[in-house]
Parts: sequence; C-alpha cells; structure tokens
Amino acid sequence: MTQQQPWQWDEPTWRGHVGRVRAGRPLRPASWPGGARVAVALSFDSDHETPALRDGEVLPGKLSQGEYGARVGVPRILRLLERFGAPSTFFVPAVSALLHDGEVKSYVDAGHEVALHGWIHERNTHLPAAAERDLAFRAADTLERLTGTRPVGIRTPSWDFSDHSLQIIRELGLTYDSSLMADDDCYEILADGEPTGVVELPVEWIRDDMPYFMMDRFGSLRPYTPPRGVLSIWRDEFDVALAEGGIFQLTLHPHCIGHRSRISVLTELLEHIAAQRGRVWFATHAQIVDHVLNGKDLPR
Ligand SMILES: [Zn+2]
Repeated sequence: MTQQQPWQWDEPTWRGHVGRVRAGRPLRPASWPGGARVAVALSFDSDHETPALRDGEVLPGKLSQGEYGARVGVPRILRLLERFGAPSTFFVPAVSALLHDGEVKSYVDAGHEVALHGWIHERNTHLPAAAERDLAFRAADTLERLTGTRPVGIRTPSWDFSDHSLQIIRELGLTYDSSLMADDDCYEILADGEPTGVVELPVEWIRDDMPYFMMDRFGSLRPYTPPRGVLSIWRDEFDVALAEGGIFQLTLHPHCIGHRSRISVLTELLEHIAAQRGRVWFATHAQIVDHVLNGKDLPR
C-alpha cells in the first residue's frame, strides 16, 4: 500500500496527529508569590561543546566556540544572576556536565536549578525509542550524581520532541517539560486526549538567543538582528507578560549570550525588569511549576 499524502488523510487521521501531544488544562495562577504581577523564568542551556560533538564535529575551531560558554559565559552569567538575585534554571546535557568539572555543582551552590537536556544534545527524532530512553535515563543518573539531586524537569535538546519523548518523560517521573509552545502560560500536557499530570512551561524561538545571533561560516546563515533590536523584542515580551500577569520565559546559551555585546543587552533587560521591584518574581522553572500546581492563590 502506498503511503497516503496529507491531503488524502481522512478526518480521524489528521485529528489523531494533532491529538498525540496537546495542550490541556491551563495552569495560570490567580497570583504569584509575594503579590508579584509577573513570574520571570530565566533559563540557560549550557550546551557548550555538545551540539558540535553531536554532529561529529571534532576539530578545535567549533569546539572552542562551545568551550567559551563554560570558560567565559557561565562566570559572567552567574555574576549577573547574583547581582539581580535571580534564581534560574540551567538545562545541561550530561556530556557537557561531565566535561566541565564542578560546573553543575556551582549552579546548585548558587541557588539555581539543574535540569535535563539530553546526553550529548542528541536529536531525539533521529533516534530509535530505546536509544532515546537509554540516553535520557543515563543523563538523569549523571546529573543526580553530580548535583546530589534528581532533576524534576527536562528541555529536549533543540526542543526536538519525538513521538516517544512524552512517554519517556512520564517514565522518568518528571514534573515538567519546557520544550513545547502552545501557550505563554503553563499548561498540563495531554497524551491522546488524556491528562498526563506533566506540566509544560512553554518556550518560543522569539525568546531564544540562538535564532538572532547564530551564524554559519560556510553557509548563508548570518545574524540579521542587532543585539539592541533583540533587547527591544524581549522588553516588549516582558512588558506584556507583566500587563497580563503571566510568565516571562527566556532561553539563553552561555556560548551565545555570554559575549560582551550580548551580556550588555541581558544586563539592560534585567535592569528594566528589576525596576518593577515588588511586582516581579524571579524563580526557577521548577519553582514556577510547583506554584502553578500547589501554590496558594493570594488576592491581587
Ligand atoms: Zn541546547
């Protein structure tokens, strides 16, 4: 039998595809802790060398670009987060954590969360289910050994969510995922229409540094948005989140945002956010998910 083209699918087929993994019950709290008007969820994906290694790139040039993230980006970011008193989440591939001795421990010691981001930044949709599962469990064991705490959340590498990812997340017993994009606020993930109990804290490429700044020497990919243009996009994202009483979530990469002209932009953004004083709650992804599930709602 020849495979049907999408235009030939009957209604149960296209409904079935859409329904495999879907946004369920919205989890927007009536209020944030301390009477804050907005929750700020900063995240840093400490990929460092792993995307290059994943692609079999083993020559020094590309690897040194990743190494910059650990040597220069991470210390700059940790100083900045300390200045603003901003607990954040670091999603770390296990190989990256193993390459940089003590790094994940330094995150935890500074009050940040460490969460799953694959083994070697693998592309889940290219893997058989058994391999994806094995790498995810090895990564969880590795981060637990290095930090002393079992991770409760995951961001699939490159937000590459396979047909098996949700099942593996459930087998791992994780509380939340942060790789999908169906809302600005948290929601419960449905699997084939059934509630899973897994919370999504959504991401978006708009609030990720890589699409704005990435370049490819031998391809045609060049950054086209100046850092201060990116600042104005993120500031607008924050201002509307504040007006709506929602979440402002950012996905940043130490080897990308850690450079001088870009950390300046992140600094200005945090100054803009911190100027709201008592109206802002800086929290890790796990703390936000815990609040939307269990928090006592305070009157606004
Ligand atoms: Zn990553």
